[in-house]
Amino acid sequence: MRLLVVEDDPGIQQFLKRALFEAGYQVDVASDATTAETLALEGVHDAFIIDLGLPDMDGLDLIARCRSQGILAPVLILSARRSVDERVRGLEQGGDDYLTKPFALAELLARLRNLLRRAATPQADSATKLSVGDLQLDLIRRDARRGDRTLQLTPQEFSLLEYLCRNAGRVVTRTMILDHVWRMRIDPQTNVVDVHIYRLRSKVDHESAKPLIHTIRGVGYVLKDS
Ligand code: CA
Repeated sequence: MRLLVVEDDPGIQQFLKRALFEAGYQVDVASDATTAETLALEGVHDAFIIDLGLPDMDGLDLIARCRSQGILAPVLILSARRSVDERVRGLEQGGDDYLTKPFALAELLARLRNLLRRAATPQADSATKLSVGDLQLDLIRRDARRGDRTLQLTPQEFSLLEYLCRNAGRVVTRTMILDHVWRMRIDPQTNVVDVHIYRLRSKVDHESAKPLIHTIRGVGYVLKDS
């Protein structure tokens, strides 16, 4: 497994390089986004660890640039930005997980293993398409349609919708959604799920006489065609 660590703080960079090497990874490092992008485009890395405060570019812009060029390896954001808004933004803009500084090495390694395991899991075991009513998800192309309307979803919205579809007819709680879609322990009091459901609903159920996403007050959500 080969990693790219993008971090401009020399102390943290060296610490990560050594710790990850000792954990059995091959590690490349970059101290700025321009170097990181060049290395990333080689397409040889299994995952990225990216600091957001970089000297030449915001780490989120670096992630966006890599994603737009087809670099899809998972990204663990490592940042001093701690607010829920910042974390949500990081996850919405292509980060797969988010760890705030200061961090515990054991947690970083655990999150990294999770990301790598998920990336190695086929996106669909038996089916490559999911459908509920006139909602259709193509899990390979990662696109979603409702009737003849293509839904413009962010990667997180797609993952959320996929999770709801896989559990169609079953109520899923906010905690289940946080565990399965974000795969992280965000403060359960956070409204990140509600915010994403709200946006997803505006896209999926907008202009449709028959809403699919239903709120079960105090419990969670259910996607169903009835
Ligand atoms: Ca920094």
